[in-house]
Amino acid sequence: MKLKGKKAIVTGGSRGIGRAIVLELAASGCDVVFTYHSSVESANEVEKKSEELGVKILGFQADASMFADAEKTVNFTLEKLGGLDILVNNAGITKDNLLIRMSEDDFDKVISANLKGVFNYTKASLKQMIGQRFGRIINISSVVAIIGNPGQANYVASKSGIIGFTKSTAKELASRNITVNAVAPGYISTDMTGKLNDKQKEAIINMIPLKRIGLPEDVARVVTFLVSEDAGYITGQVISVDGGMAM
Ligand code: NAP
Repeated sequence: MKLKGKKAIVTGGSRGIGRAIVLELAASGCDVVFTYHSSVESANEVEKKSEELGVKILGFQADASMFADAEKTVNFTLEKLGGLDILVNNAGITKDNLLIRMSEDDFDKVISANLKGVFNYTKASLKQMIGQRFGRIINISSVVAIIGNPGQANYVASKSGIIGFTKSTAKELASRNITVNAVAPGYISTDMTGKLNDKQKEAIINMIPLKRIGLPEDVARVVTFLVSEDAGYITGQVISVDGGMAM
């Protein structure tokens, strides 16, 4: 119950890594508002865990790429939970293609959801966090932001941008007792990576020193540590959770 009484927003919490983060924070005693884009059924299923875990878990439909939606999410959180201590910018999409075939629209959409989404939610949360002189912000980047990946120039640019944004905001907000860190997952078993065939999965496992594809919970446990009091002296860092892929 390390996060008892804390209030959090997790973007993209209806599925995959975000869902695991919502449940891990909730299991540590934190009340959580999570956003989702279109999966109403998955969102309802996450909300139902509220009773079992004894904290508030509320879904909110919002598009991470829209600043107005970020402001609405923060207002909803303050109204329903009565505060905001933790922000986890997790929502993300891919629109993979080799650059020669990548459309301008696919570049813009990925940058808007993944990178501008982090700007939107961080900016919308600041007034509350600065006012209370406390905040924990976690931005979900990716191993490919560190090592690059063919066919993902848009996605990798967004995830590398998140690292720069994390370091700059960590320096800007440190004097207000707000820490900002990035988590860089490797290959994690979710819908996003579910499209891989067995041959592709085998090739990926061969690149991972720990010889397994990660689980959403592997990432969620690290996020939960980083937002706890125990991590109060860590800011501006990129923590890899990738089975040793990037070292
Ligand atoms: P996922 O299974 O595809 O889930 C994505 C989540 O983000 C869903 O809850 C989705 O909502 C939400 N979302 C998508 N676009 C949104 C938008 N515009 N506004 C609000 N919510 C939106 O993805 P995942 O694999 O869990 O990935 C989560 C994060 O980890 C992403 O940032 C991803 O880039 C990063 N990551 C993943 C891996 C991996 O191997 N899986 C590796 C490195 C980094 P709906 O359910 O409504 O669609």
